[in-house]
Amino acid sequence: MLSELLKRNVAWSTLRNSNEPNYFSRLATQQAPEFFWIGCSDSRVPANVVAGLDPGEVFVHRNVANVVHSSDMNLLTALEFAVEALEIREIIVCGHYGCGGVRAATEDLPHGLVDHWLEPIRRLSRSYAVDLAHAPDKETYRDRLAELNVIEGVRRVSETPILQRAWKHGTEIRVHGLIYSLRDGLLRDLNCTIDESHSRLEAAE
Ligand code: ZN
Repeated sequence: MLSELLKRNVAWSTLRNSNEPNYFSRLATQQAPEFFWIGCSDSRVPANVVAGLDPGEVFVHRNVANVVHSSDMNLLTALEFAVEALEIREIIVCGHYGCGGVRAATEDLPHGLVDHWLEPIRRLSRSYAVDLAHAPDKETYRDRLAELNVIEGVRRVSETPILQRAWKHGTEIRVHGLIYSLRDGLLRDLNCTIDESHSRLEAAE
């Protein structure tokens, strides 16, 4: 019920104000987040909550299955604003185990528009078919695919003209890949961080 939601909002605002009287006036006059988060729309993986961050501390873009499409104007606009206006230097692509979007990408059923959206994940499952064949069960297969989707997302973000331009100008930005587990509430580092030096190495290869 919307009325219940509005009541909860009033209670939250009151509590925040009582904990820190200048809280809202401080947030209203400045936005200086240190992280840009690209995550899944799944309601169980809200960036601020799982990362233990307050409002104002993380700039967020979310979509179904945290797919990084190189032509997604929504994501690119947020990314450019994060890098150039907010001067964020830590970018996180975060996936999660048990992702419904990743599961849909592995099914032979029609799901509608989302099937177009999930095409990059299907492509990944074909590219890594040999590696994924070692998965002992479907759940492990999907979770490994969710990890690959994050690693691919990190690579795609780092290849955007926005990041390439920033690195060319000597800006120190890192793009990290994390995966969240719904089972224990923990974020794991997939150790696929790309920074300026990695980017240069890749270009030289
Ligand atoms: Zn998901």
